[in-house]
Amino acid sequence: MRRKISENLKRVEQRIEQACLRAGRKPESVTLVAVTKYATIDIIRSMVDLGFENLGESRVQELTKRAAAVSEWLSRKPRSPGALTRPHWHMVGHLQRNKVKAILPWIDMIHSVDSLRLAEEIDARAGKLDRRIPILLQVNAAEEPGKAGVAVAATSHLAEQIITLPHLEVRGLMALAPATEDTEVIRRVFERVREVFDEMVGERVGGPEFRELSLGMSHDLEYGIAAGATYVRIGSALFEGIPMRAEPVPAE
Ligand SMILES: *Cc1c(COP(=O)(O)O)cnc(C)c1O
Repeated sequence: MRRKISENLKRVEQRIEQACLRAGRKPESVTLVAVTKYATIDIIRSMVDLGFENLGESRVQELTKRAAAVSEWLSRKPRSPGALTRPHWHMVGHLQRNKVKAILPWIDMIHSVDSLRLAEEIDARAGKLDRRIPILLQVNAAEEPGKAGVAVAATSHLAEQIITLPHLEVRGLMALAPATEDTEVIRRVFERVREVFDEMVGERVGGPEFRELSLGMSHDLEYGIAAGATYVRIGSALFEGIPMRAEPVPAE
């Protein structure tokens, strides 16, 4: 299993390198977030052993359960010098306000903030923990009705409001491509996010920490990187050929 994950990781890293090369970018400018929703706890432990530093989940319950299990395991494990203290956890899926309290102690970044009310809840809870939480604003870049994310035209205004909250750090934007095989559509959607991002940087919305773009998953990471992604969120490509959870995790 471990060998298989290593091979898959190598393949994903090669894709990232190739995409960076084509875009004239440094591979170090892209952080791989391994989305573990298809994996068992055993697999996640192996991944931490293999040096995966950034793990992501799309559901609150799964994230808290897994982060707690990994943390408990690491606390018992004899550690070699220089080994990872703990992985960073990224919340990449839709987040409800009533789940913020449960998830906050475990997460290092939230990729999916798309309303002022949600941001205010995170801010209030983060204040109680005396923390500043790095967040990305999720943009509904394909303008799909009923989908998560702030409307493209409202993104800059939402950022201006959220930036006033003391316990949040607005680091950038995140988007999902629509579920389509049409790569031209995917390319255009990611480019649109990049344009919005560039406009916001041009208007000095956010400070120097506003510099991240979370774009691209297993089947479209190349398009994400071409559009300037600094985070790619990769799940299935890392788990090819590995026995997965019996049931797919339902959306929340
Ligand atoms: C599942 C998920 C991913 C990873 O998707 P793959 O296609 O398996 O790489 C990335 N981002 C979000 C928000 C997800 O829910």
